Amino acid sequence: MSGSAIFETFARAPLTFERGEGSWLVSDKGERYLDFAAGIAVNSLGHSHPHLVAALTEQAAKLWHVSNLYQIPAQERLAERLAEASFADKVFFTNSGAEALECAIKTARRYQYANGHPERFRIITFEGAFHGRTLATIAAGGQQKYLEGYGPKVEGFDQVPFDDLDAAEKAITPETAAILIEPVQGEGGIREVPVQSLKRLRQLCDKHGLLLIFDEVQCGIGRTGKLFAHEWAGITPDLMAIAKGIGGGFPMGACLATAEAASGMTAGVHGTTFGGNPLAMAVGNAVLDVVLEDGFLEDVQRKALLLKQGLAGVADEFPQVIESVRGSGLMLGLKCVVPNARLNAALRAEKLLAVPAGDNVIRLLPPLTVTDAEIGEALERIRVAAAAATK
Ligand SMILES: *Cc1c(COP(=O)(O)O)cnc(C)c1O
Repeated sequence: MSGSAIFETFARAPLTFERGEGSWLVSDKGERYLDFAAGIAVNSLGHSHPHLVAALTEQAAKLWHVSNLYQIPAQERLAERLAEASFADKVFFTNSGAEALECAIKTARRYQYANGHPERFRIITFEGAFHGRTLATIAAGGQQKYLEGYGPKVEGFDQVPFDDLDAAEKAITPETAAILIEPVQGEGGIREVPVQSLKRLRQLCDKHGLLLIFDEVQCGIGRTGKLFAHEWAGITPDLMAIAKGIGGGFPMGACLATAEAASGMTAGVHGTTFGGNPLAMAVGNAVLDVVLEDGFLEDVQRKALLLKQGLAGVADEFPQVIESVRGSGLMLGLKCVVPNARLNAALRAEKLLAVPAGDNVIRLLPPLTVTDAEIGEALERIRVAAAAATK
C-alpha cells in the first residue's frame, strides 16, 4: 500500500482481474469469480458483451472526440431514444453520475431563476442518500463521513429522514426549488421508497411549484426490471440523473429533463468537454439496443424473482446471518445480522463478488444478462458463505 503512487482513498481487495466474460471475472491467477457486483451496477450487460465490444471498437477506428463545438449525430440519436423511452424531452450528457446530478441541481435552480424565482434555490434531500462525491453532491447526500474536512458545506440542501413525507412537506420554504430522491437507495442499503411516497412527492412538488428530481444513477437502465425504477410508481419526475448502467462500463451519465424544467438552460450557461463524446455515445446506443429489445426487461423481472425467492430460502436457513432480503429486480440487498463485511468476505472466499452498503446490507447487483444457471450457482455459493459466516 505505502508503495503505491495512487491516492489512498480506496481500501482495495487484494484481487486483480485480467478479463471478463459475461457474468464472470477471471483473475491474474486464472481463478473465475461470479460477478454479482458488476462494477457497482455498471456492467449492466456483463463483461465483453459482443454488441458493446463491436460498437466501441468500430467507433474507435473512426473518431474518438470532437468536443461539443460540433454536431454529434450519435449524441442526437441517444438523446432522442432516451426521450422516447421516458418522460424527458431534453438530455445533457456527462461523464459520471455526480456530474449528471450537478446538471440536475443547476437545471432546477436555473428553472426557478428563469421563472422569476431567483430566491428558490434550496433542495430537499433524504437521509441515507448518495448522490456522488463532488462538493455539491456530498452536500446533497448529507452524509457526515463524506463532508468532514472539506470546509463549508455547499449551501442550499435541507435533509429530512428517509421516507418521512410530513417532514419533507414541513421543510418546504419560499426558498425551496426542488426535491431530490433516489427511488431506491443503493449505497444507503437497497432501501426502496414506497410507491405511495413517490406519488405523494409528485403531488407536493406540483402543489408548491417545485421540481421533482430522481437520482436513478444506480436503479435506472433496467436494474429493477423496468427501464427506470420510478415507472413502478406510475409517476414521472421533472429531472432525472442516470449514469452507471447506461454506459455498460464506459464512463458516461446523463441528465434528463422535461422541456419546461430545462427552459432555463440556454446557450452558454452549462457545458462539458468530454460529455457526450462519440465513444460514449456509441456504447450508450448499443446498451439501449439490448435493454430495449422485446422481452429483455420482462426476462430481468423473471430472473429477479428467481434470485429473490432463492435468497429468501437462504435467509430462512440462516436467520443468525441474514435478517431479510430487500429490493426489487436485480438490485437486491441482504440485510445482515452479522457484520456485512464478514458475509462479504465469506462470499469472496466462495468466489462470488458482491458490494457492501449502508445499514449493514450486502448488495447483489448481477449483470442484467445473468443466466438462470448462474443464479443457481450464485445461490449455492451464498448458502455456503452464509454457513461459513455463522462461525
Ligand atoms: C454511484 C452513484 C452516484 C455517483 O456516480 P459517480 O459516477 O460515482 O459520480 C450518484 N447517485 C447514485 C444513486 C449512485 O449510485
